[in-house]
Amino acid sequence: MVRLARRLWDDAQRDAGYAVLTPTPHLDLGPRDDPNFRAVVASGATELAPTGIAPRPAWAEAFRVPEGWAAASSELGGVIKATKAVAMFQALAAKMGAVVRDRTEVIDVAKQGEGTKIVVKTSSGEKFHGAKCIITVGAWTSKLVKSVTGFDLPVQPLHTLLCYWKLKPGHKRELTTEAGFPTFSSYGDPCIYSTPSMEYPGLIKIAMHGGPPCDPDSRGWTIGTGEGVGGLADPVARWIDEVMPGHVDTAGGPVLRQACTYSMTPDEDFVIDFLGGEEFGRDVVVGAGFSGHGFKMGPAIGRILAELVLDGESTTAAEAGVELTHFRIGRFDGDPMGNATSS
Ligand SMILES: Cc1cc2nc3c(=O)[nH]c(=O)nc-3n(C[C@H](O)[C@H](O)[C@H](O)COP(=O)(O)OP(=O)(O)OC[C@H]3O[C@@H](n4cnc5c(N)ncnc54)[C@H](O)[C@@H]3O)c2cc1C
Repeated sequence: MVRLARRLWDDAQRDAGYAVLTPTPHLDLGPRDDPNFRAVVASGATELAPTGIAPRPAWAEAFRVPEGWAAASSELGGVIKATKAVAMFQALAAKMGAVVRDRTEVIDVAKQGEGTKIVVKTSSGEKFHGAKCIITVGAWTSKLVKSVTGFDLPVQPLHTLLCYWKLKPGHKRELTTEAGFPTFSSYGDPCIYSTPSMEYPGLIKIAMHGGPPCDPDSRGWTIGTGEGVGGLADPVARWIDEVMPGHVDTAGGPVLRQACTYSMTPDEDFVIDFLGGEEFGRDVVVGAGFSGHGFKMGPAIGRILAELVLDGESTTAAEAGVELTHFRIGRFDGDPMGNATSS
């Protein structure tokens, strides 16, 4: 799916006439036998040789890979300017005839009478009629699906924290996208991810994947923002000091903290499926539970959702070798852990 998404990002940027994605290398690292790390190596990432054994990219020297760990790189990293990317897709959609309605809260999706029409109701009392419907409401998915069908879709909102850290003098250029520094993911506990210094010169984003459960309608905005127990920045600081010593200033904590919400499934795999049931059949599709790694897949997921609801199947997914059974809601039938049980 990463490869399909990259091709579709390129197509969209070409159609828009400007770029939203800055390609970078990508580094994965973690305990040698970690299943996520093994999976990225199996998908084509190349294991980095230890220092002094073979030529390594210059940026590899920023990392001190712990004993028993391994590292692997690929060319499929990148930093996406999220706001600009959403605006790009809205502009492209409008050019194709779509009508974009911001600040319009959907409160119900229903089938009208015996017919095939779907009626979408909003909190302002408006009704929209159509043959098909795609639901993509992020952290609000389980609430909306529950109120529409009564079904408990296991998409749990989590409160998470983005952290930006100051680069130490002498390393400000070295860790930038221009210098070819990679995005990276570090597996194990804690799971850490990062993008190179780009949007705030002199700062690098390094954060922990995950956080405590929350209600998206009544969030405690300061949860985890402090120091000490429960602080979402402390595990990141410890990881930096161990794995990237000397490059990032952790002494005063992160200089920027931003609270954010994940929509997490029990197996951290997406939900891309028909809502199903007698009422909706194959006329309503849901895309949700992107578990902190969905943005980069946006164009691929959008294309697949549209094909599913219009044609009943996705030829794009089939041609790209993307196995959609992985993302079915039915994986949780009788097994609350879904794909995590079989992997
Ligand atoms: C801190 C953080 C870091 C992340 N880093 C990465 C990363 O490095 N790479 C990556 O690929 N992904 C990343 N993600 C994940 C990525 O942002 C999500 O996977 C992606 O945004 C999910 O898209 P979505 O459309 O499901 O939900 P959202 O982007 O949340 O969009 C859902 C939209 O639906 C709207 N909505 C909700 N309820 C209703 C309603 N009733 N009616 C109408 N509209 C409604 C919401 O207002 C929102 O605009 C990160 C997420 C966070 C929080």
